[in-house]
Amino acid sequence: MYQAPRGTQDVLPEDVPYFAYVEEVASRFAALYAYEEIRTPTFEDSALFRRGTGETTDIVEKQMYSFTDKGNSDVTLRPEATPSIMRAYLQHGLHNRPQPLRLFQLVNCFRYDRPQAGRWREFRQLDVEAIGEDDPALDGELITLFWRFCEALGLQNLSLELNSIGDPACRPHYLDALRAHYEPHEEELCGDCRRRLVVNPLRLLDCKVPSCQPVADSAPPFFNHLCDACRDHFARLQAALADEGIPASLNGRLVRGLDYYTRTVFELFPAKVSAQAALGGGGRYDGLAEQLGGRHVPAVGFAAGIERLVLNLKDQNVVVPGGARPRVYVGHVGPKAEPMASEFARNLRSRGVSVIRAVGERSLRARLRHADSAGARWTAIFGDEELQNGTVCLRDMTAKEPATLPISQAIDQIIRADHGGTK
Ligand SMILES: [Zn+2]
Ligand SMILES: [Zn+2]
Repeated sequence: MYQAPRGTQDVLPEDVPYFAYVEEVASRFAALYAYEEIRTPTFEDSALFRRGTGETTDIVEKQMYSFTDKGNSDVTLRPEATPSIMRAYLQHGLHNRPQPLRLFQLVNCFRYDRPQAGRWREFRQLDVEAIGEDDPALDGELITLFWRFCEALGLQNLSLELNSIGDPACRPHYLDALRAHYEPHEEELCGDCRRRLVVNPLRLLDCKVPSCQPVADSAPPFFNHLCDACRDHFARLQAALADEGIPASLNGRLVRGLDYYTRTVFELFPAKVSAQAALGGGGRYDGLAEQLGGRHVPAVGFAAGIERLVLNLKDQNVVVPGGARPRVYVGHVGPKAEPMASEFARNLRSRGVSVIRAVGERSLRARLRHADSAGARWTAIFGDEELQNGTVCLRDMTAKEPATLPISQAIDQIIRADHGGTK
């Protein structure tokens, strides 16, 4: 028996309404803040992620689905959406449009990661980006959009963690301070951290290994080492969030796992009962366009995990709108009535009424049982008698009392009930 590959999932029909709901609300909120949808390819040139996401990130080092295609091109299934959007921005000269350019997309991403609750190797993301402006008001707008979107989904007790990781002017000084803090403790560090101390010191703060926690917890936070411009940017962002009534807690250990972030980084958490994974996060990435060989383009964005959101909606017992159910179950009893039943189904569908058409030969009892479990509002049955008289046996499943009616009258009754708002 074949199984879905490890880390992937089949979303069965009963779960699809959760995903459809999250994506519908996401699109509505993006539109509310005037973000336009963009669609980029599922795979890209591998170099885009090596340069964009960054050589020393976990994503590029360990998690990419990369392969050589039949034309000998080195391509990668997107592990995240931001480099693709920036590539599209540069490729199509989108800096010529009014800035900032506000974009979003709903995408599937791929990371060879250890599967666990809410974390999949193929997962879906809402990705929202605002490109071409460094005003902290824009950082505030994005965080507000993310927060209000989660509220609108029905999620309770959200919390926001915020940090600034500076820019090229102040980061070298901070990294010196960080190294000075870590070096006396080198012996206590995990292997990854000893390497990070050399190649990517900021990621030291990110380490989850227990033995690394005391030294990381006592590290000086970046927000105390910002240059004047970064300090001002951070203060104005915090003021913008306060103005929106969004509470932010500063977390000096929040650095995000990507190389391109500058200044603002943030993560949004659901009700924090235990060590909950973030619903998503993001930050400012003023250096990414240049890293990809383009001009200087300030930008800020976030990604929210659709599976995480669904998991939390279920945890918090949020009721989502159900999927569409068929309105009418049309069945025949005996082969002679079959064309008449089909004609009836055709007639209803041409008027926009959803019909489940029974197939095969079954008893009347079996037909009614099927109609009931399918959740149809009406059941229309055609047998020999109906065939002879040009009638249909119509049952309103909420009333259970069947009535034998002329066909046109039955159709009128169904259409009238559909438009009368009786569900
Ligand atoms: Zn460590
Ligand atoms: Zn700075």
